[in-house]
Amino acid sequence: MFNAIYLTQEAGLTHAQIRLLDESELPAGDVRVRVDYSTLNYKDGLAITGKAPVVRQFPMIPGIDCCGVVAETSHPDWRVGDAVILNGWGVGERHWGGLAQQARFSGDWLVPLPPGLNSRQAMAIGTAGYTAMLCVLALEGHGLQPGEGEILVTGAGGGVGGIAIALLARKGYRVIASTGRPAERAYLAALGAAEVIDRVELSGPGKPLMKERWVGVVDTVGSHTLANACASTRYNGAVAACGLAQGMDFPATVAPFILRGVTLYGIDSVMVPKERRLRAWNRLALELDPALLEAMTREIPLSQAIAAATELLAGQVRGRLVVNVNA
Ligand code: NDP
Repeated sequence: MFNAIYLTQEAGLTHAQIRLLDESELPAGDVRVRVDYSTLNYKDGLAITGKAPVVRQFPMIPGIDCCGVVAETSHPDWRVGDAVILNGWGVGERHWGGLAQQARFSGDWLVPLPPGLNSRQAMAIGTAGYTAMLCVLALEGHGLQPGEGEILVTGAGGGVGGIAIALLARKGYRVIASTGRPAERAYLAALGAAEVIDRVELSGPGKPLMKERWVGVVDTVGSHTLANACASTRYNGAVAACGLAQGMDFPATVAPFILRGVTLYGIDSVMVPKERRLRAWNRLALELDPALLEAMTREIPLSQAIAAATELLAGQVRGRLVVNVNA
């Protein structure tokens, strides 16, 4: 038997509870994982509260990521006792997820816990940090180099934003952090932000083209912020768009793309091929300062994850929430 967050839906409303389940109830898969840690990502917040139709079938165990140890396997790549990370592939949306003490997955979805990280650190990073690294890889792939100009990171107080700041600053980029929480200025500076701006500078309707400010952007909020970020990107710069915390809309014009050669990269973390996942996780293990990661992490037990989902969506969580499913 094991504990899990269990989501049901009635009359269009999502109900979340902690429930004791039997291993035999786990979905099909060739690897059973004894979960050590999961996390709360923005998408988990949406799933648990039912604020957006993230969950495709009920009942569902949410949790788009987890880290644990292989307990049973018939997959050729894995042995009992291997430490593994799971994120994406529709887990927590279509397939029972990681906010549970046990999970069963396809072995094809798993990546090994990279040397240098323990399972708590891997989930402090979680899908948020891994997505931040995918954004960094996109900007690097574009050819951006430290010293060429500033990089804007929006939603800086959140999980993706915080890890993006830490990664970019460590590489030598000058990072501008955009936040709605000016009280977190010292926290953002400690992560490596050289400058902190109020998100209201970017969150309202703007012009098709604005003063050229940054050479690259990691945007986690979408809507007018993404439009203004593109409109203020320097000639031949690049914008990596991964989130929608402000909105899913994109009220922009083509002007930055056709007049300034700006490139907009869409970042999806769910269906990324394995080779890129391995690259992202290995770079995170090497490049993310463990002390900074700890500074942006709060640990909660599984029993507090349901309440924390509402806090997360209200923008009240700073950095990352790691969930100890066995506490
Ligand atoms: P968090 O909740 O940790 O952070 C989101 C941050 O966005 C908040 O902390 C806040 O930062 C800012 N924000 C919230 N509401 C608004 C608003 N109305 N207007 C402007 N800014 C706002 O979430 P994550 O960091 O985990 O995720 C960020 C986004 O990235 C989410 O939309 C998530 O769905 C997306 N995402 C996408 C992935 C993909 O595969 N493409 C994978 C992972 C995440 P502040 O207080 O500093 O302003």
